[in-house]
Amino acid sequence: MTTEKSHLFYQSRQPRPFLERSEGIYHYDENGKRYIDGSSGAMVSNIGHSNPRVLEKMKAQMDRSTFGYRLHFRTHPSEDLAARVAARMPEGLDKVFFVSGGSEAVETAIKLARQYAVTQGEESRYKVISRLPSYHGATMGSLGVTGSPIFTGKFAPMFTEMPKVPAPTCYLDRDNLTEEERGIKYAEMLREKIEAEGPETVLAFLMEPVGGASTGALVAPDSYYTRVAEICEEYGILLIYDEVMTGAGRTGKFLAAEHWGIIPDIVAMSKGFGAGYAPLGAVVARHDIVETLLDAGGFLHGFTYAGNPLACAAGLAVLDEMEEQDLIGNAARMGDVLKARLTALMDRYPFIGDVRGKGLLLAFELVSDRETMKVLPKEWNAHVELVELAYERGLIIYSRRTRSGYEGDHFLVCPPLIVTEAQIDEIIAILTDALDAFAANHDLPVVE
Ligand code: PMP
Repeated sequence: MTTEKSHLFYQSRQPRPFLERSEGIYHYDENGKRYIDGSSGAMVSNIGHSNPRVLEKMKAQMDRSTFGYRLHFRTHPSEDLAARVAARMPEGLDKVFFVSGGSEAVETAIKLARQYAVTQGEESRYKVISRLPSYHGATMGSLGVTGSPIFTGKFAPMFTEMPKVPAPTCYLDRDNLTEEERGIKYAEMLREKIEAEGPETVLAFLMEPVGGASTGALVAPDSYYTRVAEICEEYGILLIYDEVMTGAGRTGKFLAAEHWGIIPDIVAMSKGFGAGYAPLGAVVARHDIVETLLDAGGFLHGFTYAGNPLACAAGLAVLDEMEEQDLIGNAARMGDVLKARLTALMDRYPFIGDVRGKGLLLAFELVSDRETMKVLPKEWNAHVELVELAYERGLIIYSRRTRSGYEGDHFLVCPPLIVTEAQIDEIIAILTDALDAFAANHDLPVVE
């Protein structure tokens, strides 16, 4: 259980048990203790763990070939996966570039946008406006668009900070506007920012359609999505959707963009796309953007592992499972069940201030006062404490205390898309037990 003898390091010294095996929505540690993977890792394991059919298909690919460099060979898994992805995309988005993770996908999307602008003779366009708070990755380019000073601050002199607009945290607003008006209000902040920066310098607007770790499953009013797309169109700015977390079915549609009928120019995906079976991501772009670049000599970008046949075979097998088991439909159905169950917890715990999200990308936020949405005292470290209380009880959830734009302790509850109603009952039972313990630790009211 200790990390003292470990040569491996990550963010912090957090002793965790060894993972022995995983199956379906469950993990089992070295002591035989069972955990419900209530956050699919970091919103990754969409089809559940150790699916034997996926493993078999990966093994079959391993027996054929594990690696063929893309400049030397075309491979069936990469061609087939690109075709399957393109077929699931909105009209016009049919060019696919594979990567190995979310940060790579975001970097790729941004570089693709820039090279397209340059090819079009629009050299002056280089600013990628994004939102505060937001999370788009850990590499230097993606840090520039990530709205989270806690992750970016120390590296500030080393990358170009891109302009930010406030994320539409409408649930915190106490004005007299309707939902629709609030959506427009936040969308119009993009127009103001474009004007302030100089429209001829703005290349793209990058956003998570449903917020992930940074905002805890933040969903904007419908009007926001439509107006943002209109503004981008009006100024000739590319609209990039970061669907690293939302893509591949998590929100109950293949892309979250489909909820609003939005067709972005470029989409970045990862996480649930490889679903934990292989490091895999994809950038899907408008046909004409890619053709323009290829006509002009090619896209100056690439990663060694891009489109490797083993990762792509895993991606294909994951997609097969999603389609054969209707997991996107299940995400929508079980998302409704889980959201209703989380919302019902608000009756018992007055300190749950908000429940939000779409499909199985759901979150709740803890507050000290629901009316004013005043946050819990920072020194409580609620986002750590509740996660630990749940972990001890065999439930994994994912949390953050956001420190940019607004403060708040939010908790993502995002089980694999294979989750059943009975398993949701288990999740809620353990979560209730953990919330009771949290309330007891801090003398918070519990309504029986
Ligand atoms: N974009 C979003 C929306 C994400 O949620 C993440 C990961 N949390 C990333 C980008 C970066 O992905 P990765 O950690 O795979 O590089």
